Amino acid sequence: MTELVELQHWRCPWCGDYLPDSPRGTAIDHIIPRAYGGPHRRWNLQLLHQECNSAKGKKITAEALELADAHGVTIAMDVGQYRAGVRRRAAIYAVRATRQLGGEARARALAAARNLTVFFPETRVHAVIRAAAEGSGPLTAPASEQMLPR
Ligand SMILES: [Zn+2]
Repeated sequence: MTELVELQHWRCPWCGDYLPDSPRGTAIDHIIPRAYGGPHRRWNLQLLHQECNSAKGKKITAEALELADAHGVTIAMDVGQYRAGVRRRAAIYAVRATRQLGGEARARALAAARNLTVFFPETRVHAVIRAAAEGSGPLTAPASEQMLPR
């Protein structure tokens, strides 16, 4: 566990904040969730805050898909349908977030929402959509690399 936390530079990959220096309040997370065939192997483990682990639940992240590819793990689910679900949720948020704004801002926000295909922490999704609505930043999902504690 000390090794894990050092690899992560003491950051929680889910929220990006620092982890406490005692194991209390943290939880070991399977990046590819166990429910979808993620093995209990070091490369599939990360240390999160307990609340972050609960928030992540069984969500499939970009990192999980990359790991599954790299290690030949078949994610036992309909990924296409999952992605559609993520885009739907993001689109709902985009509409809500742009209620007070013009049609152009909404179009940009919806375009950003359509680009999301895997789950990112909610606050990150919201930031991407807000940035798109304001016209700053590219109309793309956050790169999965930004999620990783490197
Ligand atoms: Zn966290």
